[in-house]
This record gives sequence, C-alpha cells and structure tokens, in this order.
Amino acid sequence: MNFEEEIRAKDRLVAPEPRNTESAPDNALRPKSLDEYVGQEHLRKSLDVFIKAARAREEALDHVLFHGYPGLGKTTLSYIIAAEMQSGIKVTSGPVIERQGDLAAILTSLQEGDILFIDEIHRLNHAVEEILYPAMEDFQLDLIIGQGPGARSVKMDLPRFTLVGATTRTGLLTPPLRDRFGIILRLELYEPEELVRIVQRSASILGMNVDSDGALELGRRSRGTPRIANRLLRRVRDFAEVGRHPAVTAEVADEALNLLNVDRFGLDDMDRRIMLAIIDKFQGGPIGLETLATVVCEEKNTLEDVYEPFLIQSGFLTRTPRGRMATMNAYEHFGRSLPRGKRQATLFDTGD
Ligand code: ADP
Repeated sequence: MNFEEEIRAKDRLVAPEPRNTESAPDNALRPKSLDEYVGQEHLRKSLDVFIKAARAREEALDHVLFHGYPGLGKTTLSYIIAAEMQSGIKVTSGPVIERQGDLAAILTSLQEGDILFIDEIHRLNHAVEEILYPAMEDFQLDLIIGQGPGARSVKMDLPRFTLVGATTRTGLLTPPLRDRFGIILRLELYEPEELVRIVQRSASILGMNVDSDGALELGRRSRGTPRIANRLLRRVRDFAEVGRHPAVTAEVADEALNLLNVDRFGLDDMDRRIMLAIIDKFQGGPIGLETLATVVCEEKNTLEDVYEPFLIQSGFLTRTPRGRMATMNAYEHFGRSLPRGKRQATLFDTGD
C-alpha cells in the first residue's frame, strides 16, 4: 500500500486504525485498569495472574506480545500493565525506530521495571531487531559504533525492563524475535454485548445519554472493534445534538448510522461496492483478486489487507483456490437472489 492509499484507507469511518485527527480524544476513553477493561476474559485473567506473580516476586514482568486486529485494545493493555506494575512506560512503534542508535537511545533511557511498548513490532528492520535480542534476553546493549578500522564495540548493562510488543499477526514476526517473548496473548474481536458495555462506558465519560437499545445498535455495527464503536458513538452524538434528541435510542442510532452509510452489519460503501461487484458483475464469483481490484478501482494489496478481512470474518466473502466468492449470506444481506445453478457451488465451495 502506498502512502496515499494508506491515508485513504485509514480515513474510512469504519477503519480499525486511528484516523489522523483522533489520538487525543481516544486517550480519554482508554480503560485505566484491568478491572475497567471490558471483554477478552481469558486474556485478562491470564494477564492478571502474570502481573500478580511478578509483583509478588518484585521482578519485572516477562516480555509480552499482543496480537490481534487494529483497534482491539493492544496499546490500552500496555498502559494498563504499566499502571498495574506501577512502573513507567515508553511508547514507540516499529517503523519509527529507523537505526540501531534510535533503539539504543530508548533502551538506555529506561528505568528498572519500565515498560517499553513497541507497536507494529513486525515492522522493525533487521539491524534494529538484532539489538533487541540481547536486550530482551540478557538486558545487555551490544552496539558497534563507527565503521571500518575505527569501529568499536560497546557493551552496556540495561535495567530489567519489560518489552510489550503489538502486532496484527504473530506470523509476521521473525522466529528469533517471537521466541524471546515469554507471554504471547491474542485479542479476539468483541461480541456485540461487550461492545454495548464499551459504548455505555464511553457514553458516560462523554456525558451522553445512550439507552440500552441505542448502545446495542452501535455495538452491532462496530465490526467487533472498540475503536470503531467509540468513533461511531461520537458521530452519533453530533447527530443527536443537532437533531435535539435527548437520548440516543435505537432509532436515533439507526438513523444516524444510515446517514453515515454504515449498514446494520457495519459495512460501508466500499464493502458494498466490493460485494455487489462480485454478485452483480460476476454472478457471485469466483473472481480473481486482480480483476476485482480493477473493477472497484482499488489496489490489490489494499483490498486484501484492509477490506477483505472483515468481509471474510462476517461470512460474506470466501477466498477459494479459484478466486473470491460471495456467500449465501451476502446474497441474502444485499437482497439478491442466487442465479440458477449457483446454489450448489456457493454452498459447497467453502474456500481454502
Ligand atoms: P490497538 O492498540 O489494538 O490498535 P487501542 O488500545 O489503541 O487498540 O484501542 C483503541 C481504543 O478502543 C482505545 O482508545 C480505547 O478507548 C478503546 N478500547 C480498546 N479496548 C477496550 C476495552 N477492552 N474496553 C474499553 N475500551 C477499549
């Protein structure tokens, strides 16, 4: 994806990544403790045990790797770990650390027990990653300064710190890096009821009146992602204020989200264009990625990384060895009837 496409994809109302203008208000809604953190029960219980054990031993927590889609709460959890461990935190991300010296500067500024959070850790370059291995394993900084005959090696002890890494998929990490994490935890998409609790919590922080049906409507249309739930909530707040609605009910939420082109499954215009192209122009597929990209005027990679995952997860699209196919669910959702002879193929060609 080039820079322009990345900006465009992130600018969707239903993008799981933060939009460019969003970082400040997002922070206000972050849960501050594990108790406040909604959902991810299994992960929360495990983390609670690991934190309590490390505290009882008065040791730094083992290095932690979080993996899961954007917007599910990985950054939030790293702040929570710091709060629960009563330690400091430094936050950075893979693509920002360009040179070994950049990472060395961060590592040498850490205090005993600090958390170092590296978002998108799979995007660290190889040279930087090499510095991280001895730092994680032996709390040693091992750096070559200079080049050629004048080059010298510098070794330094580092304080015992905890690296918290975040990535979308563990498979994106090199095995030596992945192996150095003692704790690997996966974040799942949230259930609508969990998103209801998140919406209600955020609404009370924002001083909004959202009834339970209104919260459910928002929860259902947030693609399993708290960041999207919070974003839709703010847009619905604008709608309710301008329309002088005293509370966000299911009707108000529905009207606002329809106006914003977010349908009852959280699909937006681009999702619809993709699905309707497959259904209407290619009889439901299979259709190759390249052809699909041309038809909807989008980059192949963007289609694959940004748009397809949610369509696949929600059961509208399958990837088969012969190409992309619309499912029965998709026909139903978009109010199209299955073409003759298609029924069997669509039902039984379930993908790879
Ligand atoms: P990630 O790092 O995975 O992209 P973040 O931690 O930045 O996601 O979370 C995005 C936003 O969603 C946060 O600002 C926070 O307000 C909200 N959020 C995430 N997880 C939860 C949760 N479990 N409970 C309540 N709010 C959450």
